[in-house]
Amino acid sequence: MFIDTHTHFDIVMKKLHCNEKTCMDNLGANNVINAVQVAISLETLQWSYDFALRNRESGILFTLGIHPSSASGKKELASLDTILSRAVTDHPDLLFGIGECGLDYYRMRQEKNLQINGFIHQITLAKQYHLPLIIHIRDAMDDALEILKSQAPTGGIMHCFPGDASAARKVLDMGFYVSFAGNVTYKNAHELHDSAAYVPLDRILVETDAPFLTPVPYRGKPNRPEYVIHTYDYIAALKNIELDVLKEKVFENFKALRNPGT
Ligand SMILES: [Zn+2]
Repeated sequence: MFIDTHTHFDIVMKKLHCNEKTCMDNLGANNVINAVQVAISLETLQWSYDFALRNRESGILFTLGIHPSSASGKKELASLDTILSRAVTDHPDLLFGIGECGLDYYRMRQEKNLQINGFIHQITLAKQYHLPLIIHIRDAMDDALEILKSQAPTGGIMHCFPGDASAARKVLDMGFYVSFAGNVTYKNAHELHDSAAYVPLDRILVETDAPFLTPVPYRGKPNRPEYVIHTYDYIAALKNIELDVLKEKVFENFKALRNPGT
């Protein structure tokens, strides 16, 4: 069985013009037993919650959070607080974590200080509710590591890991899991190959970030959650281990994040 630890079904469905039922059937047909719907903005908070509720039988979980490229002013953060406190009470079994949140100095769609404020707010929520933090970092690793060090969240995932092996070491030292997306399969992604080879099996996760970062052999087409299989294949070959071993380890890591302390 496979798990896609980070995906955006709302954008996938729009891009592929496919409906929910087809998406869920595709997961089942490809043995993807869990997929995490990740919220990125005020508009996607409630949608992600409802989507997971509607599709819980297909193994859908959800996160609540605001991406650094989305607005994260007072209004957005207050809505996040409200929906989150409801989710924690009503559906803790479906709520996977807080995020994606972090810093994106590559796109720089929001001012730096707004991004930092939103990030710190969400770290505080993750600590308050003992939930994994799902972190997005692009061209901002140094600032992000500094904030994480000073705010000391209890743990989580560095999603779509963007750095080399020494950055991976720092993230691991802070207790985070490192998740690789389809871009690790790209021929010239040498830093990512090194990082994926370096990250130990008890701290690794695999995701699609669909519809983005489509793995080889479908690079160039919109990504789908079921394509996660190709990233598993690639990482297993890179680490010179059986695919089944990687599947089992990712499953265990995912379970540990859902049930901290076990
Ligand atoms: Zn994402």
